[in-house]
Amino acid sequence: MTPDIIIKGKALYTTKGAAREYGRIGCNFYTGCPHECTYCYLKRGAPSKQLGGNKVRLKACFKNEQHAAEILLNEMDKHLEACRKHGIFLSFTTDPMIEETRRLTVSAIYDAIPRIIPVWVLTKDATFIHDVPIMTALNNIYRDKRPSIHFGFTLTGHDEMEPRASTNDNRIMAMRRMNLMGFSTFASIEPVITWEAAWRLVRQTLPWCDHYKLGLRSGAKKDYYDIAESGAAIERIVRLVECFGKTIYLKESTRRLLQQYFQPGAYEAFLSHTVDMDGKRIELQTRITHELNE
Ligand code: SF4
Repeated sequence: MTPDIIIKGKALYTTKGAAREYGRIGCNFYTGCPHECTYCYLKRGAPSKQLGGNKVRLKACFKNEQHAAEILLNEMDKHLEACRKHGIFLSFTTDPMIEETRRLTVSAIYDAIPRIIPVWVLTKDATFIHDVPIMTALNNIYRDKRPSIHFGFTLTGHDEMEPRASTNDNRIMAMRRMNLMGFSTFASIEPVITWEAAWRLVRQTLPWCDHYKLGLRSGAKKDYYDIAESGAAIERIVRLVECFGKTIYLKESTRRLLQQYFQPGAYEAFLSHTVDMDGKRIELQTRITHELNE
């Protein structure tokens, strides 16, 4: 689906490429992320300078936090329809729940709720559940509004590769807390480091997690993932998630691998057990028709 609108604001913008698999409208207030993951995309290539490395800073286009919040309000009102339809995603340039960034994230949530704009937040931080002002603010959100706020946790099962982030176990505890409070939850199992860890994480989170995203390691050597082992592991994970009534989105990286594992017909049938980027169940018939028309 192509975006129905192009947004190029200071806080909000329409995403491109792989980022669209997380959110069609990104919301960035800060650049820089302190977690120092060994596989970090912020450190590599041309965007690395612009994205700020491990120093967290308010983007230069904002005078201060209040100014950033005002700009977001204006941009949400200007693009209300698109924001309501696609929601906003925090964040592609930092972790939106670390100490430095979480106040503005909660402020964005407070502004989105009365405008009926869904919010997706993705973090590797679990310390915010001990931040009393932040948790009080989240507790003050009416229960019936909470499902439109989605708290996601990246889980790899390999703390040693994420030296400054909360441990994976603590992230799961934070997910449980948010789920019990009535917020929607999701797990981003990406990058898959080992299939053993991915399987364990899905099993551990099933009671607390509404939705999964599964993605492979970008830039990994061609033979990093064994096709037969990976295909069987993905199949097992998808069946388990479906069995528990939860949903799963397979990112393009995962699909490319599956195309080598399954015969064409079987691949299509298998995808119909998953959902698309917008969380809609993939209809087998629709997909075949769509591909024939391409
Ligand atoms: S959490 Fe994301 S942005 Fe931050 S260091 Fe890790 S991979 Fe990079």
